[in-house]
Amino acid sequence: PDLFGPARRNSRGWDLTHAPDLDEIETARAPYRTTTASAAPLIAAEARPHRQQPVLNPATRAKVGTVHLASDIDIAVALKAARPWQTPARDRAAVLHRAAGLYEENFGPLLALLTREAGKTLPDAVGELREAVDFLRYYANAGEAAQDPARGVFACISPWNFPLAIFTGQIAAALAAGNGVLAKPAEQTPLIAHDAVRLLHKAGVPKTALQLLPGNGTVGAALTCAPQVQGVAFTGATETARIIRRAMATHLSPGTPLIAETGGLNAMIVDSTALPEQAVADILASAFQSSGQRCSALRCLYLQEDIAEPFQKMLFGAMAELHLGDPWNLSTDLGPLIDADARSRIAAYIATARARDRVLWQGLAPETGHFLPPTALKVSGIKEMAQEIFGPVLHIATYRTEDLDKVIADINATGYGLTFGLHSRIDGRVQNLADRLAVGNIYVNRNQIGAIVGSQPFGGEGLSGTGPKAGGPRYLARFTTRATPPDNG
Ligand code: GLU
Repeated sequence: PDLFGPARRNSRGWDLTHAPDLDEIETARAPYRTTTASAAPLIAAEARPHRQQPVLNPATRAKVGTVHLASDIDIAVALKAARPWQTPARDRAAVLHRAAGLYEENFGPLLALLTREAGKTLPDAVGELREAVDFLRYYANAGEAAQDPARGVFACISPWNFPLAIFTGQIAAALAAGNGVLAKPAEQTPLIAHDAVRLLHKAGVPKTALQLLPGNGTVGAALTCAPQVQGVAFTGATETARIIRRAMATHLSPGTPLIAETGGLNAMIVDSTALPEQAVADILASAFQSSGQRCSALRCLYLQEDIAEPFQKMLFGAMAELHLGDPWNLSTDLGPLIDADARSRIAAYIATARARDRVLWQGLAPETGHFLPPTALKVSGIKEMAQEIFGPVLHIATYRTEDLDKVIADINATGYGLTFGLHSRIDGRVQNLADRLAVGNIYVNRNQIGAIVGSQPFGGEGLSGTGPKAGGPRYLARFTTRATPPDNG
């Protein structure tokens, strides 16, 4: 499909350094600063949720709303009512384009909720809203061009770290191809998902083609072993993807696709030819933006030994300038971690590193809310890291040029393969490393987060996901009956 043709339209952007743009956002989001929202199952029949739970702001602990958890009956009713979206592809595309417009019109409440429910700073929230809109338009165009019929009904299981963008992306792809969707948002972020589904329904997606089932892991578990489900899209932890694959193998028909985007153990190499100021800025963004809660985030930095000492001094100086706090405030660089569990797990990890005298530098964090300060830990290499630490923790190793082959082998040996960053001004080295690293996305002389829909298809290899890449030209085919192998393309 000609995804770059005339039908392509970018999401609306704001220049956050431009006062009139900022004023427009502030005015639009201000009425939603203290309102409370509620999320309930949105199914093609009357829902009977069985339990409610408060949703709390991870930074302030204030109540943001209430979620009514889908009951077993709701799940059964939704599965029974679910239907593919049988209308011409052109009409589906028109509805998804309309939904993109509604998301853009509702930027005030959506940005407010991204900050209050998911702890997003304003730049992160704007980036996320734009990504959601881009996904809607991109897959709408792709769906119009797709040749093959839909599979049927998809379960879309999405993460809290992109509660609007990834939630919307999975759904938009499945719908654009003509499938029905049962959407299970992350337990931590049901409110934004509820708003999104309301807007999609308002745009014209039929209630039988898109149903929302808020709840915990048991909802996802029920969906991934329901015979009515003909495909699963999942973004989240690698371990959860394993559980889903096993459930699907036992309960669903052979060949049912699982499109999974999972974790990463992402590295960056900075050699002695790098521009230090630029590399430092890109490391801050890669490791600490969104408090490190991105699967693309930098986890292990390799510094060439010759520059390591002055470079670290500069890096820690820059880390000291990062401001932690309520992400509603424009001065905040790092918001909170998503919940108490995440915070205490990572705090325990840092405490162990401290006991082993591995803490190179650590900032300060507010006392209330689930905050963790940006932290740098010393490691001998990526081999030492057993798992992804999903927070503001940067591991730093040094290397000598003659060890570069071993560094590459070690990065590839993790089994993950999501993002890789390189700061070097030696063209031959850039090409050589890019050819040899088994990862989905390589970023050279820039940060390694924030892939742009349509321009930078995003996804990994090995333990990082099945492919095909989200926001890329091959993604939609996996949601149709076209016999495409998952190919990371
Ligand atoms: N697509 C996001 C990025 O490029 C990461 C997605 C994720 O963390 O799940 O930063």
